[in-house]
Formats: sequence, structure tokens, C-alpha cells
Amino acid sequence: MSKVALHTLGCKLNFSETSAIGKQFIQNGFSIVNHDNAPDVFVLNTCTVTENAEKECRQIVRRVLRQNPEAFVIVTGCYAQLRSDQIAAIPGVDLVLGSKEKFSLFEFAGDFSKNKLACTFVSPTEELNSSFGFASSSDADSRTRAFFKIQDGCDYKCSFCTIPLARGSSRSMSEQDAVIQFTELVNQGYKEIILTGVNVGDYRKDEDNALYLLLKKLVEIKGDFRIRISSIEPNLLTDEIIELTASNPKMCKHFHIPLQSGSSKILKLMQRRYKANFYSTLITKIVGKISDVGIGVDVITGFPGETDEDFMETYNFIKDLPVAYLHVFTYSERPMTKAIEMDGVVDVAERRRRTNMLRILSEKKKAIFYERNKYKLEEVLFENNQEDGSIKGFTSNYIRVSTSFSEELVNKFVNVELTDFNGNLYDCNIIPNSKILLNDLKTA
Ligand code: SF4
Repeated sequence: MSKVALHTLGCKLNFSETSAIGKQFIQNGFSIVNHDNAPDVFVLNTCTVTENAEKECRQIVRRVLRQNPEAFVIVTGCYAQLRSDQIAAIPGVDLVLGSKEKFSLFEFAGDFSKNKLACTFVSPTEELNSSFGFASSSDADSRTRAFFKIQDGCDYKCSFCTIPLARGSSRSMSEQDAVIQFTELVNQGYKEIILTGVNVGDYRKDEDNALYLLLKKLVEIKGDFRIRISSIEPNLLTDEIIELTASNPKMCKHFHIPLQSGSSKILKLMQRRYKANFYSTLITKIVGKISDVGIGVDVITGFPGETDEDFMETYNFIKDLPVAYLHVFTYSERPMTKAIEMDGVVDVAERRRRTNMLRILSEKKKAIFYERNKYKLEEVLFENNQEDGSIKGFTSNYIRVSTSFSEELVNKFVNVELTDFNGNLYDCNIIPNSKILLNDLKTA
């Protein structure tokens, strides 16, 4: 049996698409192995969101080829879509496939005999708009979590972002298909299904409140599962979605909401679709409606034109927000974006200093959020891995929990009391038997 190794860089959407590619290989008689287990074929699904992501891609390809010079190397994904020439120039790469072609990999790969020069198949961006590759992925060997792609592409024009060029315009799976595929995942035993896309809130953008309507159908499906939304733009998080999350325990009490800057001046330069006060009002509303909600925030530091004052505005803005953690990105110039032409370039060392400050703030926010949850009763979905005699899982509001390993906890929703935390991990006491007890205690 031939062996394939797959590697993914970037977002959850890419992970779910790599998983779909992996399924194609299995259907074609391949076994999936680690890249240090002498694969015959190596597939790298790339990301282009920062310069670093592209650098990492080139490094990985070179490393894999050093270890497996005979392997047939395929590089696909957003970086391949936008700068295929850079990848094709790496000696040893056999096939470069764009965002559309990655779902028909076997049509392009032939018999996987190594090429002298890389062959490149990349459709123009306009052609991406007519394709939607089905994809869902899961934790390697468990049925704990599945990432389920319901949307692709983006019509927004954030001035720093190349994703719309790499993935085309916004398009979605039909509601009917989404319900069918979601039900299949539930029937396969997946306990947490994470809705993913480039801009999930834009799901079926031409219909009113389509994501809410889909969620309403999904929570009605019978089974033991919960739903998490991977990330949602603030202007697309509707009151109805918030209400549904507040009232239905199948919805995780967790949102990841990109902010990018707390300065309305910078938000305007970024061409984001809201001002800072809209964002803070939204967060206040969510926190008021959903008890113990966990909110994550994306922020970019060092965007062109961001002065010390603008950065401190962002810092103080976030300091006052009741959010749980930050994902901080240092701005990096991307070709073909508006931002690359902008004045007021921030020195790279200064960008990193700002990133560092926000990462420290993130740790503080997390500690406050964790402290607030001490002795709270939560439902944890435990995973499959045993590590140093312990087992880990997440609460609905995205707190990482650990306890002593027991086979009975694997892939189960278990009621716990959060007792004490150390860094990112909470210890807990298992509450024996039942959601009923948990609900009684909550209302007591
Ligand atoms: S919303 Fe903005 S940042 Fe997000 S993918 Fe679309 S253009 Fe890029």
C-alpha cells in the first residue's frame, strides 16, 4: 500500500480541507502516515496570511525533501494559489495546485512519478467563485471534534488581507446539504462540531440571517453534541444568534470575534465594517445575555499609520473589555493589498514590542476569566489522549480542563466543578452522574 503524509498550515478551514484530501487518498488505497515515516507522497496545504506562514511552507518542503528525496511532493492552498511560481521554484516539488484544483488532486497527479520540474495548475481567482469543495475534518483518531466547512471565500475588502484573492468570493453550502452532512457527523459520533469558513457569518449572504436559521435547524437534530462557531465578524453576529446561544445548551458559550484594532482611525484604514464603540457595545450585550461566556479576540499590531497613541488606544480598549483571551498578529506586508501602499510604516521591532504587550495582556485577561470561573459547574467534553496519566477537554466556554485519566471519560460530556488552575489548565472535580444534577445545582 502506498503511503501519503499530509501537513496543514493556517486556519481550521485548511485543516478540514486537508482532511477531505486525506479521505480521497484513503479511497484510492493509500495509508496516511507521518512525514518521517517514509511517505511516497507528501501533500502540504499552505497559508498566505503572513510572510512567516509562507516562509514556514518553504522550510517544510525543503525539510521533507531532505528526509524523503524520492517522495512525490504536492503543494496546494492559499500560498500556492497566489504565488505558485515561488513554490514551483523549490527543487523537488512535483505539483503545485491552486485552491480549486486541490479537490481534484488525483486528476492532476497522474501516477505520482516524480517530475523533473514542478507542474503548476492554478485557476484564476474568478474561477474559484463557482466551486465549493466539501470538507470536514476531525481529531486524528477520536470522534471528539469535527471541523465542518459551511462557507468559503470572502467579499470583504480588509486592506491587509489577501484571503479573498486566494479563495475567491463568498459562497456557501446549501442549508439542506449542511443539515444532511451535519447529521452524518452527529451519527458518526462526533460530539463537538465546529462550523468553519473564511467568513462564517456571511453564510448564504443573500438570505436574511441565514446562519441563525441554519443554527436553529442544527440544534434541533437529535443526538449528544454541541456546536461551536469557529470565528465570526462582529457586524455579522446577530441578536438572534446571541439569543440562541444564551438559551440553547447545544450552542457553545464561546465566540471568537475579530477586532483587529481598538482605534476607529485604524479600523477605517483597515476597511473594517465597524467602529470601536460598535465592538464594545456588542461585547457588553453578549456578556449581559450569556452567563460565563468566553470571548476570544483577534488583534493586529503595527498596521501602517498606527502611532503609539493609536496602539495605546487599542491596548486600553481591550484592557477594559470583558474578554477571555487574544490572538495577536504582528502586521506583515502582503503583496497585492492596499495596506502595502500605505504611509506610516511601523518599524518591525516596534510592531513586535506591541505584539508582546498585547500577549502579556492576553495572559492577564485569561487569568481574570479563569479566576471568575473558579468553583463554577461546567460541562467538559473530554478527548481521547492520555498524557502523563491525565485527560484533557474543553468546557463550552472554552476553558481547558484536565483530570486523572479514566477510560470512562473518553469522548464524553462530563459535569465538573472547576477547582484550580495553573497557566492554561484547570483542575476539576468530576460530578458523578448527570446533567440533571448540574442543572439542579445551577438553578439552586
Ligand atoms: S473579513 Fe477581512 S480579514 Fe477576514 S477574510 Fe475577509 S477580507 Fe480577510
